Amino acid sequence: MTPRLEILMYHSISDTPGPTSISPQIFAAQMQALADSGLPVVSPDAMAAPPRARSVVITFDDGFADFDTVAWPILRTHGFCPIVYLPSGRMGGPEDWAGCNIPPRPLMSWDRVRHLAAEGVFFGGHSITHPDLTTLPADTLEHEVALSGQDIAARLGQPIRHFAPPYGASSPDVRRCIARHYTTSVGTRLGVARPGEDLHDLPRLEMFYFTDISRWQAHLAGRGGPYLAIRRTLRRARQMARTHFGVG
Ligand SMILES: [Zn+2]
Repeated sequence: MTPRLEILMYHSISDTPGPTSISPQIFAAQMQALADSGLPVVSPDAMAAPPRARSVVITFDDGFADFDTVAWPILRTHGFCPIVYLPSGRMGGPEDWAGCNIPPRPLMSWDRVRHLAAEGVFFGGHSITHPDLTTLPADTLEHEVALSGQDIAARLGQPIRHFAPPYGASSPDVRRCIARHYTTSVGTRLGVARPGEDLHDLPRLEMFYFTDISRWQAHLAGRGGPYLAIRRTLRRARQMARTHFGVG
């Protein structure tokens, strides 16, 4: 089998509407299908090395409170240890950034983050205030990127090696800044990571595209290539429309 790392992307596990929420029932079914597939779910540190086999890393952006109350109990039953990317200056409050849900969803408290770290959950940086990093002047960019991981590291007493830029928005300057402080960075580019991938622009699989469990099972069984190619084309067309016509 071609060596590749499949980095799954989640946000909130809840019944709130919108593409950054997946219902608890569907999440449980996705994790059960993953367990049934026998594919190894590996530590996020595996993102730092070229994949040698087909394996999976599970990621969550934003650190919503439902990670602690809904997602982690399901993940734990399967022995899956994910990474959660935290906007360090917003923990304990509600999401409050551009494009957030209305009503806003609560984020975990630092107490819960510490508790989860002790149980084996990994954490990564996701900036301090969740801005679009590509819009920031150099000094603010450095501050948002570097201090996020430093804050989490100080609170958890462990090094923070991984980062996810908010909205997946990056540029060569943003990636260079992230690379000065972190070993890896994931984006929202749709795909699987193969040997030779840029460690600071790792693609992920948006799990909102796999809420149909039979489609997810087909992907896990190695029959998901054509579907992924269609989603990638649609996504690119949407991004071009947004760039050229200011829509989306
Ligand atoms: Zn985010």
